[in-house]
Amino acid sequence: MMRSLMLTIAALSSSTALATPADFIIRDAHIVTVDPKFSTAEAVAIQDGRFIAVGSDAEVLKTRGPNTRVIDLHGETVLPGFNDTHVHLTAGKDLENEVDLTHIRSIKDIQAAIAARVKVSKPGEPIVGTRGWWEYQLAEDRLPTRADLDAVAPNNPVAIPGPHYVIANSLALKLAGVTRDTPDPQGGQIYKDSNGEPTGLLMDNASRAVRRFMPRPTEAQQLAGMKRVLALVNSHGLTSAGDPSGSVEDAAMYRRLRDQGLLTVRLDFAYNIDPAEPLDKAEAELRALPEPGADGDGMFRADEIGETGLDGAELTALLEHDYPGKPGYRGLQKVPTEQFKQFAALVAKHGYRLRPHAVGDAAIDEALDAFDYANSQTPITDRRWMIDHAFLLGPQHYARVKRLGLIVNSQYMHNYELGALILKAWKRPLADRSEPYRQWLQNGIMFAGGSDGPISYYAEPLLEIYGEVTRGTQWGGRLGPDQGISREDAIRSVTINGAYTTFEEKVKGSIEPGKYADFVVLSADIMKIPAEQIRDLKVLATVLGGRTVYGALR
Ligand SMILES: [Zn+2]
Repeated sequence: MMRSLMLTIAALSSSTALATPADFIIRDAHIVTVDPKFSTAEAVAIQDGRFIAVGSDAEVLKTRGPNTRVIDLHGETVLPGFNDTHVHLTAGKDLENEVDLTHIRSIKDIQAAIAARVKVSKPGEPIVGTRGWWEYQLAEDRLPTRADLDAVAPNNPVAIPGPHYVIANSLALKLAGVTRDTPDPQGGQIYKDSNGEPTGLLMDNASRAVRRFMPRPTEAQQLAGMKRVLALVNSHGLTSAGDPSGSVEDAAMYRRLRDQGLLTVRLDFAYNIDPAEPLDKAEAELRALPEPGADGDGMFRADEIGETGLDGAELTALLEHDYPGKPGYRGLQKVPTEQFKQFAALVAKHGYRLRPHAVGDAAIDEALDAFDYANSQTPITDRRWMIDHAFLLGPQHYARVKRLGLIVNSQYMHNYELGALILKAWKRPLADRSEPYRQWLQNGIMFAGGSDGPISYYAEPLLEIYGEVTRGTQWGGRLGPDQGISREDAIRSVTINGAYTTFEEKVKGSIEPGKYADFVVLSADIMKIPAEQIRDLKVLATVLGGRTVYGALR
């Protein structure tokens, strides 16, 4: 038993906290507390949704009263609840409408799924697919084209979304007004074949034309989809999440879910405002937002503007140098540099925090220039602004990141699922510099880990930990194989560091007295099993504020 824990108990024993006994006690567990010393404990006591004691069985059992339930975990491993700081939960609103393409393995499978939906749809009714499939897993080893979709859906507009793109069929392109003569929009690209005809692949902002007329789910469908997504992320151990981008209506929806007791993660919400629109319009939108802040119940907070896209992703990140083999091509810049500076200053002025999406090294430069400018108008250094993704955050950026007090919001799941695309587009050595965790930590850069679900199919922190430790991937290769970090640091990235991004490190992110009783029970000891097996771990139970929201405490 660590001395610090014994002292905690001693302090508690002499206070009034124990005058009321615990609601329940977990004993005979292997509890990885993630406190500052990364101590372990055997038992915890929970009262009113918070931990009131953490320590040895004998110590914690002192909080037992006549009605205290005692649960013996027979040595099972307990971790703080996971915090996925970048997961698009609002995408769940559309789930009920979408054709399920998760676990698809060929273009033929995609065609079959779309064909089945066509059968039960009226001509002209739009059809959309889910994420959860990957180009490199398709038997044909290529992306589908509009012709593939036309073959099964000639009379329905079809759009299937990929990471940062949409593949549309001919009718969808026609409705969107996309022809061989349509120029690329700012921050987007319309792929064309050797005859100059659109292939159906619409990259980044080019996909907006198609997304516009896709079906809007009814309120009942939205609610059903959100319940599905929340249940899914709870099953992966989430007790906290950051939704990096949504509307005022989305914020209201989360609050409704919370009021009905259906919100089963603590939510950090960011409003989306387009930084490329005229600044007076952006400022009017900022003014119209509710006051930035937290609701006070630990379940909902909203004080960020995100994820304002500065560039694309794997194939379209904004780089400082030309893409290898593509002279003159440096990726997509979505917002002019001067415009983004002014936008950042407005965000700071109105008391919000900014979390732009910046993948390439040049997009990170743009973010830092804008943050520096904002800071010269309204100080932000203690406001914990973030850069989301930041794949190519390197030594040239470190001093400014630290001076501005920034946190990197990183998603190894991109590398895990899409590293093959990074390798293809950026080539080594640049591809090996994607998400260099070891180097970041050695240089004092703090990062929190997220999934970017549904791009990676929703929040799997155990995979994130696995990847951060081993640099292993789904596609088989390894980018930056020397950039793995310790299990302790990887676990911190999806627990206490996430809490830090929302100023909540004193109330969650570790198992310590006084904090919310948010924890997970795992199928094996994450600290001892071979690293390669971390990705096979299962979550047996997820507990949020003392309430079991997934599985069961046996
Ligand atoms: Zn995202």
